[in-house]
Amino acid sequence: PMHGLSGGGEEKIFVSVRLRPLNAKEIARNDVSDWESINYDTVIYRNNLPVSERSMYPTAYTFDRVFGSDCSTKHVYGEGAKEVALSVVSGINSSVFAYGQTSSGKTYTMSGITEYTIADIYDYVEKHKEREFTLKFSAMEIYNESVRDLLGADATPLRLLDDPERGTVVERLTEESIRDWNHFKELLSVCEAQRQIGETSLNEASSRSHQILRLTVESSTQEFLGHYKSSTLAATVNFVDLAGSERASQSLSAGMRLKEGCHINRSLLTLGTVIRKLSKGKNGHVPFRDSKLTRILQSSLGGNARTAIICTMSPARSHVEQSRNTLLFASCAK
Ligand code: ADP
Ligand code: MG
Repeated sequence: PMHGLSGGGEEKIFVSVRLRPLNAKEIARNDVSDWESINYDTVIYRNNLPVSERSMYPTAYTFDRVFGSDCSTKHVYGEGAKEVALSVVSGINSSVFAYGQTSSGKTYTMSGITEYTIADIYDYVEKHKEREFTLKFSAMEIYNESVRDLLGADATPLRLLDDPERGTVVERLTEESIRDWNHFKELLSVCEAQRQIGETSLNEASSRSHQILRLTVESSTQEFLGHYKSSTLAATVNFVDLAGSERASQSLSAGMRLKEGCHINRSLLTLGTVIRKLSKGKNGHVPFRDSKLTRILQSSLGGNARTAIICTMSPARSHVEQSRNTLLFASCAK
């Protein structure tokens, strides 16, 4: 189904949109759902407003895939992320992003996708006894252009180093070998707890920070070529739960915000620029080095790496402005 990804060389970024159902708060204030998915790849604005209030914006947006509010996360994973994420077992780096305004469903979507991926990797490992696999897990948060380890006890910001062979390396980042499924779940809850420690008020921190969960899969096998020779593969898949996209647009408005707005703005804007450049082909300078997020992800974006972006959005009329911004970002990525 992910036809956009096949073929050599010119790899395209797989862009999908996921609509969530109206939530209790939206229903309670009599908000209505104005967006729906049609034909598996198009999201339409049901222009049911009075004529005087209808806008000049497009009413239909087409992507690689659009998931309606009745789609399960398993379904979103299967058609929007699986092929990209599982390329890690073949030695190909990849990144899966969730982009969207706060409360649009980024964390809900990414946490499911991360778990389905690990489960599928364990299945794969079971079926390939000829290879020996090691799964390693690390997790970090970027807040204010400062990188924090979500598995380590030390809260001091981590530095990025340039390694001639491996590219950008996050210094002192904790990397745990995953023993089994339960151990993986434990590691996830450590990240969750670490993330909450940093939270100041309400859900502020999680809406302003980017979270990267990173899984490295190494495998080796003994091949007989006259003599035994071991062949190894190693690759990384990143699950990226981005800061709320409303920050990028809000911080553009005059007089807004402190330092944070600028940094969030910088990371999200740089990511937008990087993705736009990658999706338009290989010519020109790609400004990976302009933000921590894109530096960390550089080896898993572009080149041979594969990328899937899931843009999450609320169908509510009250969020139409942010939803249009999200669709604009998604359009630039495809
Ligand atoms: P974000 O991470 O973008 O801020 P969340 O993932 O935390 O948003 O989602 C906000 C709320 O909406 C959560 O309570 C979540 O469980 C719920 N939610 C999000 N997406 C869906 C969905 N597709 N179906 C049902 N509930 C959802
Ligand atoms: Mg979230």
